[in-house]
Amino acid sequence: MSAVGNRNVRRSVGELRREGLRIAGETVHTGRTFDVRYPYTGEVIATVPKAGIDDVRRAIRQARDYKPRLTRHERFRILIRAGELVAQRKDAIARQITLESGLCLKDSLYEVGRASDVLLFAAQAALVDDGQSFSCDLTHHGKQRRVHTTREPLLGVISAITPFNHPLNQVIHKVAPAVATNNRMVLKPSEKTPLAALTLADILYEAGLPPPMLSVLTGDPAEIADELLTHPDVDLVSFTGGVAIGKHIAARAIYKRQVLELGGNDPLIVMDDADVNKAAELAASGSYKNSGQRCTAVKRIFVHERLASDFTDALLARTRDWLYGDPLDPTVDMGTVIDERAAMLFEARVNDAIAQGARLLHGNRRDGASYSPTLIDRVHGEMEVVKQETFGPVSPVLTFRDVDDAIRQVNATAYGLSSGVCTNRLDDIMRFVRELQVGSVNVWEVPGYRLEVTPFGGIKDSGLGYKEGVQEACKSFTNVKTYSLPW
Ligand code: NAD
Repeated sequence: MSAVGNRNVRRSVGELRREGLRIAGETVHTGRTFDVRYPYTGEVIATVPKAGIDDVRRAIRQARDYKPRLTRHERFRILIRAGELVAQRKDAIARQITLESGLCLKDSLYEVGRASDVLLFAAQAALVDDGQSFSCDLTHHGKQRRVHTTREPLLGVISAITPFNHPLNQVIHKVAPAVATNNRMVLKPSEKTPLAALTLADILYEAGLPPPMLSVLTGDPAEIADELLTHPDVDLVSFTGGVAIGKHIAARAIYKRQVLELGGNDPLIVMDDADVNKAAELAASGSYKNSGQRCTAVKRIFVHERLASDFTDALLARTRDWLYGDPLDPTVDMGTVIDERAAMLFEARVNDAIAQGARLLHGNRRDGASYSPTLIDRVHGEMEVVKQETFGPVSPVLTFRDVDDAIRQVNATAYGLSSGVCTNRLDDIMRFVRELQVGSVNVWEVPGYRLEVTPFGGIKDSGLGYKEGVQEACKSFTNVKTYSLPW
């Protein structure tokens, strides 16, 4: 039995932070606050200010008026130093992430490790001379000249808006490339998990970042988000979050560059030559890590019909072994989901699938914001649990007849983020690479596999094709200027 949550007494964690906004390095208390709760016990662990429109305008003005002149070496030093500080404080940062999100310590520690990687790659990116040079005598009407390119930071400010599911990583994937490219950013983290962003800002200031290059505003999005999307001094909006808000931003942030990294409904495809144990391992970690709250979590498992029974048995064994419960217990594999409302939604969708003929093999147990790893099979594509993005630890198993059928079913969704494929047959692999309507295909890996520096992002409702990952973010955050010389 994997539910340790019910056995554990929910003790008070006894912490209460009183946070301020960070406006160009200054800690600001606005007099109005909201509570951040530990999802496992429901207790308030921090109070955080609600910014108002004037705070947003002030942060944007201070950013606009500051013109960063950091050399590449200075940016490198700041990012490397920030990485050292994150590494030194990794346990405290992980604990804070666990308290604000309910993610278990294993997940939070992994999250902090990833943040160090992002800082390292961003530091390296700061050192890369990213200019190009073209000889102009390439065609019959060419000349003896050269065109050179150089990348410049944006003239205006970057607005960044981030989701709750990776409280540190979603933030650092925007902030670190902004620092690497000498940009100024005003960040609004999720109101559900605002603490990691504030901690990161303090670390960057301590590492030597000129304070006007980064402000962090917390608060009610209904009150402050629109200003971040429409202010004339904002040149670019970088958003990670759900499709509905992403499309709202697309319609509001007019004539601004938009980088939108939206929801996913990622498949794991298990072909009939697959090693079922290896595939089940990937299915379990893809479905349950980070409490299933990853844009690239495995949300639909397509198994060749000949293998379905063996595969499901193997996944059932791993699901049973997936220890969930007290997020602060370092041995636990999964904590809570973000809140009780989310857990109730998963429960309702699974119940609805069962009512339509799906079979519950394990889980669907809820207690507050704790929701057990859940395995269902006999699922079909019209069920809400797979039609929508179910952003929690649910493994729905569907079957297919052949490659054509697998590709058709995988593509029959509005989303197109990533995918995982379990087969050794190169002809099938190349068909998946060519025909799946997604941003990435990972063979014998979970859909979420990537390095922090590699291009990452989706198509269709998952995004407009602009990628994140340190290298691509540095490109989106800069303007290419060309100049030509007669030599
Ligand atoms: P969400 O869309 O509910 O919220 C994201 C952010 O938008 C929050 O900071 C929120 O305060 C803000 N927001 C709310 N109303 C707004 C408005 N009117 N204008 C501007 N901003 C507004 O997402 P969430 O529930 O925090 O996160 C989960 C979603 O994020 C999932 O759909 C997940 O797939 C997606 N996600 C995508 C990626 C990716 O890289 N593609 C990565 C992580 C998460």
